[in-house]
Amino acid sequence: MTDITTNPAAPASPGERPRPAHRFPLVLEGQPALVTGANSGIGRAVALGLGASGADVVVNYVVNPEAAEEVAHQIESGGRRALAIKADVSQEDDVKAMFAKAINHFGTLHIAVSNAGLQRDAPLLEMTIEQWNKVIGVNLTGQFLCAREAVREFTRRGVLREVSAAAGKLVFMSSVHQEIPWAGHANYAASKGGVMQLMRSIAQEVAPLAIRANAVAPGAIRTPINRPAWETPDAYRELMRLVPYKRIGEPEDIAQAVAWLVSDAADYVTGATLFVDGGMTLYPGFTTGG
Ligand code: NAD
Repeated sequence: MTDITTNPAAPASPGERPRPAHRFPLVLEGQPALVTGANSGIGRAVALGLGASGADVVVNYVVNPEAAEEVAHQIESGGRRALAIKADVSQEDDVKAMFAKAINHFGTLHIAVSNAGLQRDAPLLEMTIEQWNKVIGVNLTGQFLCAREAVREFTRRGVLREVSAAAGKLVFMSSVHQEIPWAGHANYAASKGGVMQLMRSIAQEVAPLAIRANAVAPGAIRTPINRPAWETPDAYRELMRLVPYKRIGEPEDIAQAVAWLVSDAADYVTGATLFVDGGMTLYPGFTTGG
């Protein structure tokens, strides 16, 4: 069991509830994993968490190689192997080259976490086709491309009983906005709604091959993507109106969910979306009767 301390650089928010210690059972030895967008926020925590669980890890990035190398070094200092690979997940050639390099380096992959994502927000009437295409390209097409390459490798290798009951595990990073509509963010919400049916359709298709596919849908997590929502006391207080559990999520909250989903403890779980959101999808506006 490895403990990972919650990001010590995270500023304490006023009135914040205590955060738990994050623990990662050592259950992924011999299962190389690839995590996209792994040099920041949730992807970084997932890469570190999978490493702490015993996996060797491919740390994908598209900008900021230094941050990717830092994540790789942390994984290596925990006794696992790590490899930082640059690839734009929205580009087919990049994704194919990344998987080829990863498989060549580690021999195979057992786990693929499609986490890379971004926002390009605008009201509908001001949303440009570039903003639309960028978000769909990274958040949806990127997840399709990574899933396809991963399933090719899982299928080629098949089940290794001594390592895992499954031939491979896919995790799609969705969002509460696969369910909650989001005015001013139609491209983002559409991409995450798409991720839900992409994941479910793939799960249905590959289950007979002993491959599991699931999604994690984070609520409000303390990362750079949503900094304005948590960095000032006023913003944090406003955010808490949407979170019944009354604390912001930490990237490690998501990493723990991913580590469980890809372990054999979740071997009968496929096609599921695990909401990790402190109750954000519980219609908090109805807490007092609506
Ligand atoms: P982040 O901005 O810290 O990380 C996003 C990562 O994706 C970065 O490493 C970035 O470089 C990478 N990325 C962007 N475009 C890429 C591309 N074309 N190719 C490869 N990598 C690319 O944000 P985060 O909050 O850690 O977001 C991670 C995922 O979690 C996203 O899919 C996001 O939609 C989802 N999510 C986040 C929250 C939240 O509250 N933070 C909530 C719901 C869902």
